[in-house]
Amino acid sequence: MSLLADLGRAVGADHLITDPVALRTYQSDGLTGYRAQPLAVALPGSTAEVVAAVSACDRHGVPFVARGAGTGLSGGSVPVAEGIVIGLSRMRAILDVDVPNRRVRLQPGVTNLEVTEAVAPHGLYYAPDPSSQQVCTIGGNVAENSGGAHCLKYGFTTNHVLEADVVLAGGELVRLSDHDGLDLLGAVVGSEGTLGVVTEVVVRVLPRPQRVETLLAAFADTDEAGEAVSAIIAAGIIPAAIEMMDALTIAAAEAAVHAGLPLDAGAVLLVELDGPALEVEQVLAETVRLCRTAGARDVRQAGDEAERAGFWRGRKAAFAAMGRISPHYYVQDGVVPRTRLPETLRKIEQLSEQYGLRVGNVFHAGDGNLHPLVLYDASVEGEPALAEQLASEILNACVEAGGSLTGEHGIGLDKARHMGKMFSEADLDAMNRLRCGFDPDGRCNPGKVFPTPRLCGEVPGHYREHPLERERVAERW
Ligand SMILES: Cc1cc2nc3c(=O)[nH]c(=O)nc-3n(C[C@H](O)[C@H](O)[C@H](O)COP(=O)(O)OP(=O)(O)OC[C@H]3O[C@@H](n4cnc5c(N)ncnc54)[C@H](O)[C@@H]3O)c2cc1C
Repeated sequence: MSLLADLGRAVGADHLITDPVALRTYQSDGLTGYRAQPLAVALPGSTAEVVAAVSACDRHGVPFVARGAGTGLSGGSVPVAEGIVIGLSRMRAILDVDVPNRRVRLQPGVTNLEVTEAVAPHGLYYAPDPSSQQVCTIGGNVAENSGGAHCLKYGFTTNHVLEADVVLAGGELVRLSDHDGLDLLGAVVGSEGTLGVVTEVVVRVLPRPQRVETLLAAFADTDEAGEAVSAIIAAGIIPAAIEMMDALTIAAAEAAVHAGLPLDAGAVLLVELDGPALEVEQVLAETVRLCRTAGARDVRQAGDEAERAGFWRGRKAAFAAMGRISPHYYVQDGVVPRTRLPETLRKIEQLSEQYGLRVGNVFHAGDGNLHPLVLYDASVEGEPALAEQLASEILNACVEAGGSLTGEHGIGLDKARHMGKMFSEADLDAMNRLRCGFDPDGRCNPGKVFPTPRLCGEVPGHYREHPLERERVAERW
């Protein structure tokens, strides 16, 4: 039987996409710089169908890539050229809401926001909140160990996943949990789709905090705002979120959503405090004082839920809003120790001047997780390459400052070449060996995370390069 016939039998002919035009939708993810045409997209409707589809790939020796909503920003769900995409968009059921134990069992295609919506009537919510939460899926969140504004206090996806069913590259279905035995669940969370296809997840949900207060503090520049962040944390206050936006990003967000952000500020901090009412009351006054001491000329407290939502609308729309002021932009994602935020932002400014490209900054300041947005115009000869080079230099600056290559968007395809800046040969070998244990033939999302040359049998006997791997990215824009 041919591969396509085998896959059609696995998921049903109606759920197998082979039309070249329809396949174009699946060529890339949110990082549009990379694209490749898959042979087919299989859309299974159940774990059993995922097992059948993966087993078909195994029988025919063809690589596959799991795909959620395709909002990843590091090229993680870009197909292997002529390989198979396993799209989880039909697996969108919330299987069980266990209110007393605050656990929810769900399929991987459920969106992040749908989890909170499902438990909201019970006074509960799901804490990790990527800005893409309206569309990104829990499967993608698990694969990327996604974060969000509120992860400063509540932790990343890994702190909220209790169990996962994973289909391995040979078609075996395994159930991994955060207790008993080796913590393989911990390995799967953040493995960027390289260890298997997640088909079911149990997540922890939390009770809504008794009180939430949101502040918008306006500063003359990012130095002052950075000082306020350090002072708040040094005072022992752990806000639910501290987000920073610089002048360029404020201008773009205001143009897009009219959230009432101060257009004359050099930087704003969005600080959210939550918890028991009495505790919030106390830390609120202290946080306002610390912002003012750092130089804030205006600190606004959201008067009601509508105003609070308005502040957040401005922040969450910031990436997309860049389209108002630039035809194209490249999102970088790096981390620096909080105390080194001001100097890193100055370095980014200097690089921006050197390259002659504008860079907007909107980021999770409490985590030191930067998201520089490098603006460029693809119709200008050489600008895309320049933007990419500038973004690479920003990443170097993060690593040199003692930070890391990614805060939450993953390594994917885009940053695999930078892995050697962070990790030694031995580090990469250890990761590779683990991967080989799950996927000895290298069929599961090959070409991602690891710098490609390392995959060519550099851990002898552990990894056999798939013949299609070399061609994985057919086109590079
Ligand atoms: C505007 C915007 C804002 C964003 N903000 C944030 C943010 O605040 N925080 C953050 O962390 N990220 C953010 N992201 C990045 C992205 O949304 C997250 O990484 C998200 O988790 C990706 O989910 P997805 O369903 O779109 O996954 P995809 O992009 O489809 O896939 C991402 C990776 O996960 C793998 N994968 C997907 N589903 C599965 C599965 N079921 N089993 C195994 N592997 C799987 C894929 O193979 C790929 O490697 C943002 C993206 C955009 C476009």
